[in-house]
Amino acid sequence: MATEDLKTHIEELLNILGDKVTAEELEKEFRRFLEYGVPIEQAKKTLLKKHGVSSNYQDRTLIVDLQPNEKNVHILAEVLSINKKHATVRGKTREIYYGLLRDESGTIPFTAWKDLEIEKGDVIEVTNAYTREWQGNVQLNFGDRVKIEKKEMEIPTSEPKSYKIKDLHPGIGSVELEGVILEVERRNVDVNGEEKTVFSGIIGDETGKTPFTAWYDFNLKKEGRYKIKGGYIKSWRGIPQLVFDENATVEELDVEGSVPTPIRRVPLHILVEDGGAFDVEIEGTVIELQQGSGLINRCPECNRVLINGECKIHGAVEGIEDVRIKCIVDDGTGAASISFNREQTEKLIGKKMEEIKEMSEGEFLDEIRDKILAHPLRIRGNALTDSFGVTFIPREVVIVERNIVDETFKLQEKLEGLQ
Ligand SMILES: [Zn+2]
Repeated sequence: MATEDLKTHIEELLNILGDKVTAEELEKEFRRFLEYGVPIEQAKKTLLKKHGVSSNYQDRTLIVDLQPNEKNVHILAEVLSINKKHATVRGKTREIYYGLLRDESGTIPFTAWKDLEIEKGDVIEVTNAYTREWQGNVQLNFGDRVKIEKKEMEIPTSEPKSYKIKDLHPGIGSVELEGVILEVERRNVDVNGEEKTVFSGIIGDETGKTPFTAWYDFNLKKEGRYKIKGGYIKSWRGIPQLVFDENATVEELDVEGSVPTPIRRVPLHILVEDGGAFDVEIEGTVIELQQGSGLINRCPECNRVLINGECKIHGAVEGIEDVRIKCIVDDGTGAASISFNREQTEKLIGKKMEEIKEMSEGEFLDEIRDKILAHPLRIRGNALTDSFGVTFIPREVVIVERNIVDETFKLQEKLEGLQ
């Protein structure tokens, strides 16, 4: 916006506000709202509210400004989602409420240990909350001291900002995204005792893929290309996910031909920083084999690995035999732990489980060391964050042949085979 225009708006505001605020302060605040994409009229309204009648909003923080480990957090936000789950804490089952809040600057996940009696769409003023860092993102916590008050007002909606899939991350405000639906599935889910229909799947653009959930029937078709305006980003174990509901607008684009959605190659330090990624490719060297590699027995009920024939949950059970390789892969920029399942292990070792069963544990570990330790692997899958750091869940793996002599030899073999 031209400086002259800005001056006019600020003068107008100052006329109403008198000496409650200086022109410099007001300009600073006004510019920040515009930076967040808040429409001018809504920015003015919010600023008037901030400095005018509702003086209790004065010291609230914008979500985008929240840092980890802040106390006495005061925000004004709309509830985008709220869910309930059960968690076991010191042997006792407790209910946890979690969801997503938004204001005009961005979104933030929250967790509460008691029923706050709030629902989706409510506007709440929150005081005495605190923040923590969780999986690389700021999270808001409602402890014993929290005060929550419902407000009869609307939080201005910021203009959605256009993003490419590779740049999506939790905390950004309203999102505009153009992409192709690669998969879509209709599901019925239980939301706090009420059955709802959701449409979930995968959307891709030329920079990558991301899971999505639509809480409204937009008649999304597989391979259709859409512009989605007004979505927001949720994070599941570090993986960003696009979520949109009836407040979003979805436009089907008439585009000929398919749009290529390549697999994004990601350096491991980016996965560590972002805390997760969906359907990406990494390439790194196996630097360490971890305990638990080899033949294992799994619980038939819950698939957990048995320890001395016992499941942590189901006690002594008849186990199901399985084989896996647990290792650390490093690409020079960062590291991730990876567990290869039976099929991938068989492929990497070049032996079937029946053959592996014939080997002693020592022989099998020697075989793994020989075949994959210090070898570069190219792996495709999802990266998640857990309490141990980044875990990569592989979908496909290949050993990268880097040995030139070896490759020349193979090529020669191939050529000879052709004669
Ligand atoms: Zn079990």
